[in-house]
Amino acid sequence: MTAARCRATSQVRPEVMDFSPYSAGLSIDEIKERYGLDTVVKLASNENPLGASPLVQQVIRSHAGHVFRYAQSGNPRLARSIADFFGLPAECVVTGNGSDEVIDLLIRAKARPGLDNIVAFDPCFSMYTVLARLCGVELRQTPLNENFSFNWDALVALTDENTAIVFVTTPDNPSGYTPPVEEIATLAGRLPEQCLLVVDEAYMDFTGDRDAYSMLPRLMQHPNVCVLRTFSKSMGLAGLRLGFGAMQPELADYLKRIRPPFSVNILAEHAGMAALEDTVFYNETLRVTAEGRDYLNRELTALGCSVYPSRANFIMFQAPMDGGELHEQLLRRGIILRPLNKGYGLPRHMRVSVGSKQENAAFIAAFREILHAR
Ligand SMILES: *Cc1c(COP(=O)(O)O)cnc(C)c1O
Repeated sequence: MTAARCRATSQVRPEVMDFSPYSAGLSIDEIKERYGLDTVVKLASNENPLGASPLVQQVIRSHAGHVFRYAQSGNPRLARSIADFFGLPAECVVTGNGSDEVIDLLIRAKARPGLDNIVAFDPCFSMYTVLARLCGVELRQTPLNENFSFNWDALVALTDENTAIVFVTTPDNPSGYTPPVEEIATLAGRLPEQCLLVVDEAYMDFTGDRDAYSMLPRLMQHPNVCVLRTFSKSMGLAGLRLGFGAMQPELADYLKRIRPPFSVNILAEHAGMAALEDTVFYNETLRVTAEGRDYLNRELTALGCSVYPSRANFIMFQAPMDGGELHEQLLRRGIILRPLNKGYGLPRHMRVSVGSKQENAAFIAAFREILHAR
């Protein structure tokens, strides 16, 4: 028996055979090496332009000696801090190894493989697609409107008595489109009884107006809604992996029963609590992002791009040239953007994360150079 013929290792579930690895593009080091560059500006993953909070770094250093311990199962202290920060009852909060883990738990807790379906817009955040497929749950999608706004009627029309979850991302990724929260509240009232509305608010902090856009303050009035938040973006903890879901205590309790007990590690737990305390860093993040977003909007428009209005920490634009070509030309100059040609089928659309003032200026200078050389 050769290794290739070993059924113990080659035979996996059909859903698994169809998978290809998540592609995050080249790493910073790979780009430096390939193009002979000293510095690379990464504006591809919506990470925090200020890096990690100094307070968080200090707390991580001071807990380095504790990493031989398991975290307290379920992270009750962290859940309490999150609940206090957002004005929620602690029983409503489920922490996860990134909000990706909470998405996974929700799908596995709610959707019966082969029977139930999940509904989302097309395009949507890749984790909804990937995790639904892995669970063997049908994913039904309806296209976004031409201008990337949401067609609620079409979304509701896809639901039936077997719809376990409807996913909505607001602000949306990659467009930055953010509907008024009243529209989401109305959607919650139109869904079948058994269906959970999951509102992914990964970028909500950057809107600067939770009353106008967030379902979190309204959670108690809408028992069929779950709100997802992450520490990866506005809190600058993408590499530590921390997110949470806010939902009715009964559903939260089911998720806590099925989740792996130590998925949020001890450093992420302490870093998360410190991040919530560092309001100086948080406010500075929002200020730098809002300023950078205005700058990029102006400059991209001046360079002949059509820019989509965004309330997030990234901007989608349509370039006056091929997106794949622009991506490549920027890489040569040490700037990484997210082209939207492959996953999204948008040949001229690109997504740029709002960086620091210097990073934004470096991107615009490189883009201008590329356009002028044509
Ligand atoms: C970045 C992002 C998240 C956050 O994922 P984490 O697992 O918390 O890092 C969630 N949803 C969307 C739409 C995102 O873009």
